[in-house]
Amino acid sequence: NGSRSFVFPGIRSRVVFGAGTISQVGVEMKRLECRKALILTTPQQREDGEALAARIGGSGAVVFSGATMHTPVDVTRKALEVYESADADCVISLGGGSSIGLGKAIALRTGVDQIAVPTTYAGSEMTDILGETQNGEKTTRRDPAILPETVIYDVDFTMTLPKSMTVSSGMNSIAHAAEALYASDRNPILSMMAADAIKSLAAALPAVAADPADRNGRAEALYGAWLSGAVLGGTSMALHHKLCHVLGGSFDTPHAETHAILLPHTVGFNAAAVDELLKPISDALDGTTPGKALHRFAIRLEAPTKLKELGLSEADLDRAAEIAVKNPYFNPRPFDQAEIRALLRDAWIGREPP
Ligand code: NAD
Repeated sequence: NGSRSFVFPGIRSRVVFGAGTISQVGVEMKRLECRKALILTTPQQREDGEALAARIGGSGAVVFSGATMHTPVDVTRKALEVYESADADCVISLGGGSSIGLGKAIALRTGVDQIAVPTTYAGSEMTDILGETQNGEKTTRRDPAILPETVIYDVDFTMTLPKSMTVSSGMNSIAHAAEALYASDRNPILSMMAADAIKSLAAALPAVAADPADRNGRAEALYGAWLSGAVLGGTSMALHHKLCHVLGGSFDTPHAETHAILLPHTVGFNAAAVDELLKPISDALDGTTPGKALHRFAIRLEAPTKLKELGLSEADLDRAAEIAVKNPYFNPRPFDQAEIRALLRDAWIGREPP
């Protein structure tokens, strides 16, 4: 809108990016004056955690491999016991948003330094946001203690990410950049980063989907994921993230897939109000409207496109729309319950958005 008025809060984490960068883990531990690390993984990535412990060597690391989706508080308690009995003084979260979420939950309670080694494109490593679940309820908070001090992006760890997770997680990443473009607290630096994130992911994801072993494509996708994570951490999200939170929190839909399915619809809806701000999406994709471009991109990637496929019923859509309008929050286009219900119904059947 031409008015030069903004706040740039800075980007506070140290980032080491490249292929083979895990070799820097000892150096990075030293920078943080860390003597012994608690390595956090999911059960599926336990072996990678053990290999990292062996690389650190001696009595410099122990592994806890119980991380799981949505950061349940009882898992955090178990990990805290291991952290204390091992006498660790930093955590290394190796994995996607689930492992990184556990590291954040421990840091929130102890103030311990975190090194994150992300292996998906979810972006959690660059944010001071933590969502935790207890008794079936998900609460989200922001706190400076939650932000990891150091992030080691090692392309090598992303080579094993399965194709389906690669494309869904890639769409999840684009979602952060898309909402940063119209965020109420956007600023010129993060807007540039968001546009570059979309450009990188738009180029890289089709290459990696065609050949998951494409190292250049993997590096470009991870670069985009870093940028997207940074803009997620630096701005406030709107309708898209809110709807994903409602579906994930109340209907237990999988994180990355939910983002992938909803994104064309939420962007299509908001484009009616902020078409010009969303131009980087059209520019990076096929030049049509931002919503259509994302929808066609998802189909091309063979990403999931229908909420129906996640097991939601039409009655669930009614309840989701009701929850989504309960608490007001910023969105560039005002909406009511009926409009959200219609948007969800389009996403349920996978209809091409406007
Ligand atoms: P995830 O961490 O749950 O990973 C999904 C599965 O893929 C896991 O089994 C994991 O072990 C496996 N995996 C991860 N990387 C792999 C690789 N390179 N090779 C093989 N397998 C691999 O999934 P996610 O989408 O990264 O994270 C989702 C969670 O993160 C949700 O709980 C979400 O709420 C949270 N999240 C939080 C933020 C934030 O800022 N707080 C941002 C994004 C996501």
